[in-house]
Amino acid sequence: GKLSSDEVNKAHLAEEAIKKYRNTSPTIFSKIIDKSLPADIIYEDDKCLVFRDISPQAPVHFLVIPRIPIPRISEVTESDGQLLGHLLVVAKNTAKKEGLVEGYRIVINDGKNGAQSVYHLHIHVLGGRQMNWPPG
Ligand code: IMP
Repeated sequence: GKLSSDEVNKAHLAEEAIKKYRNTSPTIFSKIIDKSLPADIIYEDDKCLVFRDISPQAPVHFLVIPRIPIPRISEVTESDGQLLGHLLVVAKNTAKKEGLVEGYRIVINDGKNGAQSVYHLHIHVLGGRQMNWPPG
């Protein structure tokens, strides 16, 4: 069928985002995406992947990552907005599936001061215990 102007616009933004990040260096998460490194994947779709953190900091700790290699949150632009929204909705849906009915924490670490260690954007979701504030 014919694409609506909204669909054409979304497809255009997705293409822009792919172009923008095409020269990004691969990380360990690229190998999880291409399945050359095993991971405990709990959800995937055409835009993202969700898998358990290898070093969990809470009884439930998973990561939501885009398939395209966006290095960090501080580099995103308007053309990433749709995708970022999708990642948050997937984070919430997966938290529900994981039974986090009493709440959870969502974290994005950015750069040195944010203690980011893998430069492929990821949303941490932590739950299953009482979280504290302020974080360390
Ligand atoms: P960051 O410190 O916010 O960059 O988070 C990176 C996260 O990735 C850490 O919580 C690591 O434990 C996690 N991690 C690193 N390598 C792997 C892996 O191979 N599988 C799953 N999680 C990983």
